Amino acid sequence: MSKASPADGPDVPIRGRLVIFSGPSGVGKTTILQRLFKACRLPLRESVSATTRQQRPGETDGVSYHYLTREEFQNRIDADEFLEYTEVFGRGDFYGTLKAPINQAIAAGEWIIVEIDVVGALKVLKIHPDAITIFVHPGSIEELEKRLRGRATESEEALTRRLEVARSELEVSEKYTHIVNNESVEQTVDEICQILEAIATQ
Ligand code: 5GP
Repeated sequence: MSKASPADGPDVPIRGRLVIFSGPSGVGKTTILQRLFKACRLPLRESVSATTRQQRPGETDGVSYHYLTREEFQNRIDADEFLEYTEVFGRGDFYGTLKAPINQAIAAGEWIIVEIDVVGALKVLKIHPDAITIFVHPGSIEELEKRLRGRATESEEALTRRLEVARSELEVSEKYTHIVNNESVEQTVDEICQILEAIATQ
């Protein structure tokens, strides 16, 4: 089991937990998570998903994702290595959460965060009903579109598709226990950290 950091006072053993973290593409999940890892005193770890999508500039294989060919991804499906997998944007890009690292992290007392879409989240909840669910909300679709255009990593067609998916994701957001509006990154990180620390002390 992990322990809370020494700054917390006496060593308190922490039970490993699975945290499902979702929100539409472009809402700022990556930045929020990066800051959360620095700000929060829990033994947080991010799960690295596998994907068949192209690596973007600035991303690192094995850190951002495990980049697989379609065939490699299929081999892992056949070997039953995924906790869940899905085709996220309906255009042949597959994403999946590998079982082994999740189980190992929980057994080691870590709080493993899976950043996955709402379809994957509902699948994972069936297997891990006690998972903590957090949804980052952009406030509105218009706000999200502004952020995606600012990021400028997508073609117009891909951007339109991501916004369509986002609309349906916002509808499913009510299934999450915690919905956090991402108005400012700092505030969002604070809020998520407070949610997690409150659960840790229950
Ligand atoms: P991106 O291509 O922008 O990195 O991610 C696109 C979407 O895929 C995001 O909404 C993200 O949450 C989702 N995603 C990333 N990894 C996984 C995964 O392992 N499983 C599922 N179901 N969705 C994932």
